[in-house]
Amino acid sequence: DAMFKVGFLSDVYQEKPLSEAVPKIRTRFPPEPNGYLHIGHSKAIAINFGFSRFHGGECILRFDDTNPAGEEERYYEAIRDIVNWLGFKPVRETCASDNFEKLRELAIELIKRDGAYVCHCTPAEVRAQRGERGEGKEKTLGGERFACSHRTRPIEESLAEFKAMREGKYKAGEAALRMKQDITDPNPQMWDLFAWRIPEGDKQHHRSTETCLPTYDFAHALCDSIEGITHSLCTTEFELSRVSYEWLCDKLEVYRPNQREYGRLNLTGTVLSKRKIIKLVNDGYVRDWDDPRLYTLIALRRRGIPPGAILNFVNDLGVTKSGSNVQTAKFEFSVRQFLETTVPRLMVVTEPLKIIIDDLPDDHEELLEMPFSKDPAFGTHMIPFTKTVYIERSDFREVDSPDYFRLAPGKTVGLLKVPYPITATTFEKDPTTGVITCVHAKYEKPEEGAAAKKPKSFIHWVAESPRHNSPVRAEIRAFNPLFKSDDPNSHPDGFLADINPDSEQIFPDAMVETGFHEIRASAPWPKQEAEEGDIEANKHSIRFQGMRVAYFAVDRETTADKLILNRIVTLKDTQGK
Ligand code: ATP
Ligand code: MG
Ligand code: MG
Repeated sequence: DAMFKVGFLSDVYQEKPLSEAVPKIRTRFPPEPNGYLHIGHSKAIAINFGFSRFHGGECILRFDDTNPAGEEERYYEAIRDIVNWLGFKPVRETCASDNFEKLRELAIELIKRDGAYVCHCTPAEVRAQRGERGEGKEKTLGGERFACSHRTRPIEESLAEFKAMREGKYKAGEAALRMKQDITDPNPQMWDLFAWRIPEGDKQHHRSTETCLPTYDFAHALCDSIEGITHSLCTTEFELSRVSYEWLCDKLEVYRPNQREYGRLNLTGTVLSKRKIIKLVNDGYVRDWDDPRLYTLIALRRRGIPPGAILNFVNDLGVTKSGSNVQTAKFEFSVRQFLETTVPRLMVVTEPLKIIIDDLPDDHEELLEMPFSKDPAFGTHMIPFTKTVYIERSDFREVDSPDYFRLAPGKTVGLLKVPYPITATTFEKDPTTGVITCVHAKYEKPEEGAAAKKPKSFIHWVAESPRHNSPVRAEIRAFNPLFKSDDPNSHPDGFLADINPDSEQIFPDAMVETGFHEIRASAPWPKQEAEEGDIEANKHSIRFQGMRVAYFAVDRETTADKLILNRIVTLKDTQGK
């Protein structure tokens, strides 16, 4: 939580001492329940929850449900779940819609104070009042501005019309309540913003029977006020809105929270927009909203990225006003760094090649003690070493060369943790496909008193030992960037034209060593997730490093018969796209 001591937030913290009425820091995270949260939201979550936590305060999870069109009940649950997964506990949950009654009273109060009026202008008329001329390509801004003709109507009339709006007299666009601000102010957020309107379409609000609803501008400030939010933290697009936010609270003489802004977090090389992700899902470019190639938080979770890695990443970016465009490679670097010290290590062979060590007896079975990590705190486990083992196909070459140090005919290589190295002797090929089916090798156990051969390199392997349930067979799904460029959004033929055709690579015959059984039994990894207390979340938490290969996590599609592993990230940054 170091980030919350520094930067602009500590200034706000000092600027307004807490009062008796507002004895502790209270923030809110205000998502609209109209989609799954993405990595950008994790910054908003970390800031709002982190800032209040750092100061011993509290954070409310508020569903900002003022726009029925795209909102759905399932998103409330998904948002709640993912906030929880990130390790944050809201002090309570609220909805903007909980306050509709109170907001209506405040709207009436605002009219009575001569701070709002009912307007019947068309959208074109409103644009003209705001100095917009022409439409489409012809459109210009900055023209002369003028007041709406309804703004001078009597207060009584606006009160009656507002009542009529709520009683269903008008259709969408025929009447709206507007704030009586200052059209001459250079700030567009002061140009008589809409406060209540009748939404387009006939989709009923899922939690209210109202057909006339408050706008974001009206509801957001006043919900903050009603809930006693001390610090209303939002992204910099709302900087100009601070003036209207304060105007509204002051006009009504209600408690006014501090609005402060921070920069948005954007990832390059991917798309975060809901509309675009829907397209990717519907057109089958990805498996679903939680496809590991996406950057929704459910996708990152499914891919196996631990919440701690996401929070570290956000923390490292720091809380500043400037927005950040961060490359996905930088995010992966952060993830790799986090996993390096927090997950156990195993041997995983992605594309197995069978090795028969001819001079070992058929029933040779030696148990070797393997540490789970460089960190002794992770403990050790026993793995069998047998006559038949599997190595990575890419660790063998038919033709040796002097600059090659892994296995080839006549070449000696070490098998990680096995007492003595092996030397390849011959190999067999499938006569029709030409694929190597098996390599024969010799175990380099020295004669009594002789020195053991020292191999130039060590490779990973998995034993064939039915008695020890080895190998554990798995399908590995390796993910590459979903787009070819860093900026899919600006592709001249649209973002779909920038799709990388090789963004998912399947290894159907992968093998994992027996330590996997132990890891599965004692998940979650990293262990600190368990302390967050959410056992449900542990189903997302079987992660490990496949030595020399990559970090892996068990995918949610895994069944009793089939283990599916997602490649979280490679061990090194090899994408170099
Ligand atoms: P999107 O259009 O990407 O869904 P949004 O602003 O409509 O974004 P909300 O559901 O309103 O999404 O977001 C909830 C909170 O998260 C808001 O306070 C918003 O400012 C913040 N937020 C959204 N996207 C980002 C981002 N990329 N970086 C930081 N904060 C963000
Ligand atoms: Mg949104
Ligand atoms: Mg929003």
